[in-house]
Amino acid sequence: MLGEGIIKGMAETARNFLGSYVSAERLTTVQYPEERSVQIENARQFPFLVFDGDDPMKGLRCVACQICEKECPPKCIYIVKSKDKRADYKGQMQLYPTTFNIDLSVCMSCGICVEVCPFESIKMNTEFELSTTDRFGGLLVNKHQLAKSNDHYRKIHPTDASSSDAALAVEVAKAQAKAKADVEAKAKAAAEAKAKAVAATPVAPQPVAAT
Ligand code: SF4
Ligand code: SF4
Repeated sequence: MLGEGIIKGMAETARNFLGSYVSAERLTTVQYPEERSVQIENARQFPFLVFDGDDPMKGLRCVACQICEKECPPKCIYIVKSKDKRADYKGQMQLYPTTFNIDLSVCMSCGICVEVCPFESIKMNTEFELSTTDRFGGLLVNKHQLAKSNDHYRKIHPTDASSSDAALAVEVAKAQAKAKADVEAKAKAAAEAKAKAVAATPVAPQPVAAT
């Protein structure tokens, strides 16, 4: 029906306006900054980089694949890859970002970087009080400022973090099973080669005993 959306919107506004006189739940505004609304789980402001363990830089999940940099619509991510590699959460050797900057003055909070990241490395933070008088430098954040622990992620987005933890646990289990299978295959190949070598060795003639 023509105008149905407008009518629904007006009805919701009216419901909140009238309801606010009788129900605290209908008070959709608060006296900020003295009061702050509790952020809903799906709230998203700007991205952050997840790290595991205690060391933010060593534990960064990001492998500098640069997919997010390519896909970011306003091109506000800037990454420089490392020359060397280090073990990731699966023990696999990976590159890492020596530089990872996001210009938050340009970021439009679309979350595309999060959607395209194959490594559960970049997520949306709920922090929004970032106002600064330094229009450029103040909003250009580096990997040290972007790094937040997985515990932080679990705290702000518990549902997403738990499915992310489960996905990573599956990857770790797969990597461990593959490593175990590789070790067993190598041991089997070595045993077979050894058996072949023994079979190919000519048997020395036995001395005949004197009668
Ligand atoms: S949220 Fe969107 S605009 Fe911001 S860094 Fe990610 S992809 Fe770019
Ligand atoms: S955050 Fe994800 S998509 Fe972006 S470079 Fe790192 S691993 Fe790749």
